Amino acid sequence: MTLKDVKHWVFDMDGTLTVAVHDFAAIRRALDIPAQDDILTHLNGLPAHEAQAKHAWLLEHERELALASTPAPGAVELVRELAARGCRLGVLTRNARELAHITLEAIGLAPFFAPQDVLGRDNAAHKPDPDGLLQLARAWEVAPSQMVMVGDYRFDLDCGRAAGSKTVLVNVPQNPWPELTDWHARDCFELRQLIA
Ligand SMILES: [Mg+2]
Repeated sequence: MTLKDVKHWVFDMDGTLTVAVHDFAAIRRALDIPAQDDILTHLNGLPAHEAQAKHAWLLEHERELALASTPAPGAVELVRELAARGCRLGVLTRNARELAHITLEAIGLAPFFAPQDVLGRDNAAHKPDPDGLLQLARAWEVAPSQMVMVGDYRFDLDCGRAAGSKTVLVNVPQNPWPELTDWHARDCFELRQLIA
């Protein structure tokens, strides 16, 4: 299968469709999370009242970022092109679904994604778990092997591999994870060239 033939595309959001702005080190400091811990996994392991308070802080912090988000270079052009070709498009993010909708509005991409095809941390086990990709595969009635997961971090690639889907790494100049990557592009302009 070449990338041109892929009709079912799932995108990570932050850093993939948008310019990355999350300062994860600052978030860990603000929430008293050890530097080496995964933020969502850490929060899920806390007592309920503490987890709830910290999730609420995170949601408000990320809401500010969502409202100010800007599209990654070439992302709007790429998504428009895929939509024009009749591709099915989804988003799988570790952000909250509500904020994903705000972000997609802010960068002008909301019209290209059906609301139910945007999955956040409240709709699926978070990446690298393949749950979200498998949910979309079922909803779209397509084999995971016919889908591609596009992202800027290894969680996206691990998630794609675990689902049995193809993977694209984007917005990273050099690929640190070639064994997890089917296609690599330095940005979404270059990714668009791959399907030209
Ligand atoms: Mg990302």
